[in-house]
Amino acid sequence: MLRPYQAQNAAEILALIERGVRGVLYHLATAGGKTLTISAGVIRVVVDHGWPVVFLVHRRELLHQSVRALAKVGIKASVVDPDHDPDPLALVHVCSIDTLKARKKRLAGWLRTIRLVVIDEAHHTVAPGWQALLEEMVNAKRVGVTATPYRGDGKPLGALFDEVVRGPSVAELTDAGWLCPAEVWAPWNPDTSGVAISRGDFAAADLDRLMNNDKITRMAMNAYAARMPGEPTIAFCVSVAHARRVAELFSAGGWRATSVDGEMSDDDRDAAIRGLASGYYQVLTSCQLISEGTDLPVVSGAILLRPTKSVLLFIQQVGRVLRVCHGKIRSCILDLSGNVELHGLPEADRVWTLESGLVPQVHRTIRCPKCHRRFAPGPFCPSCRHEFRYWDRPAVPLLSTLADSMIRNMPVADLERIATSEMDLRRIALVRGFNPGWVHHATRRMRERLNERRRA
Ligand SMILES: [Zn+2]
Repeated sequence: MLRPYQAQNAAEILALIERGVRGVLYHLATAGGKTLTISAGVIRVVVDHGWPVVFLVHRRELLHQSVRALAKVGIKASVVDPDHDPDPLALVHVCSIDTLKARKKRLAGWLRTIRLVVIDEAHHTVAPGWQALLEEMVNAKRVGVTATPYRGDGKPLGALFDEVVRGPSVAELTDAGWLCPAEVWAPWNPDTSGVAISRGDFAAADLDRLMNNDKITRMAMNAYAARMPGEPTIAFCVSVAHARRVAELFSAGGWRATSVDGEMSDDDRDAAIRGLASGYYQVLTSCQLISEGTDLPVVSGAILLRPTKSVLLFIQQVGRVLRVCHGKIRSCILDLSGNVELHGLPEADRVWTLESGLVPQVHRTIRCPKCHRRFAPGPFCPSCRHEFRYWDRPAVPLLSTLADSMIRNMPVADLERIATSEMDLRRIALVRGFNPGWVHHATRRMRERLNERRRA
């Protein structure tokens, strides 16, 4: 069953295809149910019309996972991989991009019969070779699907798509109860000023020197014990050695922890991930992403130990814990990487366009000095109620926009608080009947306040 927004998004995509649009990019937040929307809402409909469909994935591990996802909504798909050519009897083919690129010439005739190509995790389409392959499918409409419709450095995806269908934002999905609200705690921030930059992100060797440090891991363990003891958690590390060391320390601290990495067999890795899902493990550490699309709704914690300049990587990391699950009322993000300060809260509204990619914005947060909660600027810490005297008040109206009736009824202290000029204060005095002496003193108070806020 599709959720209301999924049904609506699927209808929008089909309407664009029907109108003759060549490429549609569908943007939906991580854990919003992109694959379900596309398989049940789009692929099933075009298959009923007899359209041959290619479902493209960029990594081989995702082939069988995608076949299973399609089977769940009653679509039988065959796999095209190094060992299997396209099944002539099948309508839906799950293909790895590398296989199709390698056999582009030999499969040219078949590629021309395809009417719809779905590109899963479409933010990878900028890689060379995609364009040429997609152009071989001359009769196919394209639907790209992604939670991050730009490259890691925020640049646009290129010329493969013409129209965009936007699903609800993380904040909207959370408000509607489709995603779990996230609390962010920032016990510590690394100093990344001396870390070298390589290919747009922090250099791996420098990160290992900075973050593979038992003191930092112990801070993470203290925060884990304080905020979410025993809850299923993924720790994102900078290297295999770091991931192993973090798991070792958590185990020594009495938690059931293990690490996964590319050097393990698939079976061992799957067993570790299943162990986290079943509750056997409490903490799973890894230096790669627990693969895109890995669905572990039960995980309620993320420990961020890998600083990154890539907004895409950051969103994928925090997106892991936002899925709703029975009994899970909130998720917890322990940030020792500085990533939330750099990129904003998981629910920050990021503006992007097809032409220019991510629009640069500052997603400001503040950190509570008492309990280390990191949150959107406000007068109180949402956890310990610690009061902040000076903060940016983006939601506070300008005095000039207030009607006289409001100025008559609001407490004078609140009016003074939002006044930013002597003219504002004169208007308050006029409406409330205060004498010029009040304006004089209020002006002095306002200047002090503005100066103090500037210093803070
Ligand atoms: Zn606090």
